[in-house]
Amino acid sequence: MRKIIVDLLHYTPEFVGVNAVKKPYKNEIATVETEVKVVLPPHNHSSVAEHTVLNFNICGASRLCIQELLRHRMSELDVADMFSSATVESTRYTLNKVLKMDLDTIDIWDYFVEPLYDPKRFSSLKEYELFIMELASFNYCALENMIGQMKCNTPNDFIKYFLPEGWRVDLAFSINLRSFINFVSLRYNPKAHFEIRHLAKLMLDSIRNTYLIKFFPNI
Ligand SMILES: Cc1cc2nc3c(=O)[nH]c(=O)nc-3n(C[C@H](O)[C@H](O)[C@H](O)COP(=O)(O)OP(=O)(O)OC[C@H]3O[C@@H](n4cnc5c(N)ncnc54)[C@H](O)[C@@H]3O)c2cc1C
Repeated sequence: MRKIIVDLLHYTPEFVGVNAVKKPYKNEIATVETEVKVVLPPHNHSSVAEHTVLNFNICGASRLCIQELLRHRMSELDVADMFSSATVESTRYTLNKVLKMDLDTIDIWDYFVEPLYDPKRFSSLKEYELFIMELASFNYCALENMIGQMKCNTPNDFIKYFLPEGWRVDLAFSINLRSFINFVSLRYNPKAHFEIRHLAKLMLDSIRNTYLIKFFPNI
């Protein structure tokens, strides 16, 4: 999880949303504070926030986490991973990388997400370390199997069944502000899985120095 990187590539400038909020109320002196007030409860004029779009570049999140991200239908997402049919070029590039791996020297956590220690979930640090050792061994085993299959020229669409859920992927992720507020309320939440919660936190961190953070007054 330490190696997951989020960059906010672009976001709609504040005057676009402010322009939208002026219309229904004929409020020519509206500001972003007016927009925040109108969009958030109790007013919930949420559609105003659809004029604003956030574009993220996300590197190194697990496939497990990405399938949860995919459930947010009101967003756009292009995933680049080793066996995805999303883009042929990406598949070829990453495939070569796996074949060139030296399993004796690689850091397995460069390729798979390493869950962090949580004292609430493990009775001791030792128990967690044992879990991590077993997970690393499982991941090495999967890589060995995949490399073996590649050497036998097994098609990638079959090899992908060997791929563990922790495999890291890079993706472009775009979401409008209305949906991002919904995403944060569901995923930056103690009930959410820890990796997507961590991802939501990184996304929030990336907007901290922008006007967008005003839409999250409780964070
Ligand atoms: C803690 C947690 C546990 C979860 N566990 C599971 C699980 O066990 N199994 C599982 O399958 N999923 C699970 N989910 C996923 C969850 O059910 C949602 O699919 C996911 O959080 C996306 O939320 P959303 O639908 O609000 O987002 P979006 O898809 O982005 O939709 C945004 C909003 O648009 C509206 N909307 C979108 N599509 C429709 C539609 N077809 N009809 C009506 N309104 C629509 C809704 O108001 C929705 O809130 C879990 C989510 C969380 C946070």
